[in-house]
Amino acid sequence: MCRHLGWLGRPRSVAELMLDPSHSLLVQSYAPRRQQHGLLNADGWGAGFFDGALPRRWRSAAPLWGDASFASIAPVLASHCVVAAVRSATVGMPIEASATAPFTDGDWLLSHNGVVNRAVLPTTAAAESVCDSAILAAAIFARGVESLAEVIVEIGAADPKARLNILAANGAQMVATTWGDTLSMLHGSDGVVLASEPYDEDPRWVDIPDRHLVEVRDGEVRVTALGATR
Ligand code: GLN
Repeated sequence: MCRHLGWLGRPRSVAELMLDPSHSLLVQSYAPRRQQHGLLNADGWGAGFFDGALPRRWRSAAPLWGDASFASIAPVLASHCVVAAVRSATVGMPIEASATAPFTDGDWLLSHNGVVNRAVLPTTAAAESVCDSAILAAAIFARGVESLAEVIVEIGAADPKARLNILAANGAQMVATTWGDTLSMLHGSDGVVLASEPYDEDPRWVDIPDRHLVEVRDGEVRVTALGATR
C-alpha cells in the first residue's frame, strides 16, 4: 500500500503538505503508522499540483527521503490543489517513475493505494505503465472520473481481493474512495486534506469508513456509502 495525500483550498506549498508536518508523507515513506500492507514506501514518490487548470507533476522511482533537490524546491511550489503519493510497489510491478502516482489524463491527477488483478481491467493503450495502478487509472479516466463510484464497485465485484483506495482531483474538485485501506480527512477553514493517514496530531482529523466515496467541491464535503443507491 502506498500512502497518498490531496489538498483543495487556499494555495499552499507542496513542502507544507508533503514535508513539514510531524507525520508528513516524508515520514510516512519510512515510518507509516496505519499501513496494513508493506512496511516502507521506498519505491518512488510523486508530487502533482494544479497550475490553474493545468496538472503538473514531479515523480521519481527513488525514495523520497533520498532526493537531493525536492526539499529545496518544494517550498516554492504552491497550489490550491495538490495530489501527492509515496509508493510501496506491489510484488511483480515495475519500479519506474511512470508507475508512480499521480497519474493524469491531462485534466485529473489520480493516485491509487492498493492492488488489483490486471486481468479484470480493460486492456488499454492509454496506461502510462504496466503497473496495476496505471492501468486502473487509465480505466477510470476512460469511463470519466464522475463515474468513479460505479467503476470501483464493478472492479471490486470482479476482483474481490482488490484494494481500491483512489484519490483524484482536477483543480475544482477532489474525490476519493475507501475500499480496503485507510483514509482520513481534515476539513479546515481554508480547505480540505484527504490523506491515507493523518499527517499531524490535529484533533480535527476524522477517519472515513471503508467502502465510502468522499466528494469535495466549493468547500463542501459529501461522504456516501459505495454501492448504496445514490
Ligand atoms: N499496486 C500499486 C503499485 O504497485 C500500488 C501499491 C500500493 O498501494 N502500495 O504501485
